[in-house]
Amino acid sequence: MTTPEILLSSVYDEKIIMAQVGELLDRHLPRPPHSGQRVLIKPNLLLSAPPERGILTHPFVVKAAVKWVLDHGGKAIVADSPAMGTVQRIWKAGGFADAMEDMDLSVSEFCSEKKVAVGAPFGTIALAKEALETDLIINLPKFKTHAMMALTLGVKNLFGCVVGFEKPKWHARACIERDHFARLLVRIAEAVSPSVTLVDGITGIQGQGPGKSGEPVHLGCLVAGSNVHEVDALCAAMTPLLPSELPTLTAAHAMGILPYIPSPPVGIPHFPHFKLPTQSPVTFGPLPLKNLIRRHMVQRPVVDPAKCRQCSHCLEYCPANAISKTSDAIAFDLKECIRCYCCVEVCPHAALEAADPPLGRLVQRTKNLIDRIS
Ligand code: SF4
Ligand code: SF4
Repeated sequence: MTTPEILLSSVYDEKIIMAQVGELLDRHLPRPPHSGQRVLIKPNLLLSAPPERGILTHPFVVKAAVKWVLDHGGKAIVADSPAMGTVQRIWKAGGFADAMEDMDLSVSEFCSEKKVAVGAPFGTIALAKEALETDLIINLPKFKTHAMMALTLGVKNLFGCVVGFEKPKWHARACIERDHFARLLVRIAEAVSPSVTLVDGITGIQGQGPGKSGEPVHLGCLVAGSNVHEVDALCAAMTPLLPSELPTLTAAHAMGILPYIPSPPVGIPHFPHFKLPTQSPVTFGPLPLKNLIRRHMVQRPVVDPAKCRQCSHCLEYCPANAISKTSDAIAFDLKECIRCYCCVEVCPHAALEAADPPLGRLVQRTKNLIDRIS
């Protein structure tokens, strides 16, 4: 296992990125591909967006990984299972097709699945066959916030190995509790077991990420390592979040996969003003009151009717069927809503955000005050 490292990289300069990504892969992929070996490259191809929005792994970072694989004689396969749209469309709209026009690579959607046992309480899960059968996997996440998981980094990026509409099904099964979903993500990361994780944090997303409701932010770094959890811990340490507050890290630790939660190393870049999504418990309170509390006090998705174009993407994706159309926007059934925030993630018009209701804000402020006094 390699010690994760941060390389400062101020801009998406093709030449510099090619050199830096190559350098990081040399150092953190202990076994480079041998001639003819298939290497899966898994970027973040969430939805159609241009590179300057900071939502997708930048085309130059993907190109550098492809070049590194080809230079070593390997076969490069780039694949993902986007939340919205097809890989082919995203590849074009995101500038990947132009950047890698003349390169010998295969670009595809994950489509064939293989069932894998991931242990209790999840049983078996169908994951992309390529992700389970390819010897080397280069995990290329983006440094972004996530309304439910606080940050989406290396571990969350691998949720993209759940194929197509199996994703909302697993959201529906696991998102009822934040820790439960974090445990599922950790199990998937274990099953896929990437050989190296390299986070594109040159431009990241802060605030209401990981989709178009988030705000691009310049962080100027690439972070890489062979252990996906250690890489995520290092990224979290650069934000106002403590690594122990990242749900996937605490889940990995509680599950015995990570022996300790890495402490933030001294001297790393720190972004004290990085905007994290506001988070409150998905559910709390005594059992008989849980539904009432969930409806009136717990954070929920909120629509800005002025921005909503009634495109129905959120309705189609919602794993709980909790969204319906109204005359001027959309409405949420907060009893059914599981707070997975897939709707915020897929909305192409940045019309959704996760927000606390007034009563929830009041309770949170009172709690903070009591915490400060005691
Ligand atoms: S909230 Fe967004 S995804 Fe949903 S209908 Fe409106 S514009 Fe479309
Ligand atoms: S309304 Fe949004 S947050 Fe609620 S279940 Fe549907 S997709 Fe998830």
